Amino acid sequence: MIAEFDLGDVVLMKKPHACGENEWTIIRVGADVKIKCNHCGRIVMLDRADFVRMGKKILVKKEQPSEA
Ligand SMILES: [Zn+2]
Repeated sequence: MIAEFDLGDVVLMKKPHACGENEWTIIRVGADVKIKCNHCGRIVMLDRADFVRMGKKILVKKEQPSEA
């Protein structure tokens, strides 16, 4: 489960994509979460609750711009 996530994070899901890849980039965060397969580019939209449940872990945390 992935409780906290941000746009641009690379995540691992519990189930890999049909193409065999299991790295996804979060491209939209809202009531729904859109993730894009890092291998084939396919975009999947999930309810936020489904994403949290089906997410396994965050692989790469997008760097947040530092507040100067
Ligand atoms: Zn794919």
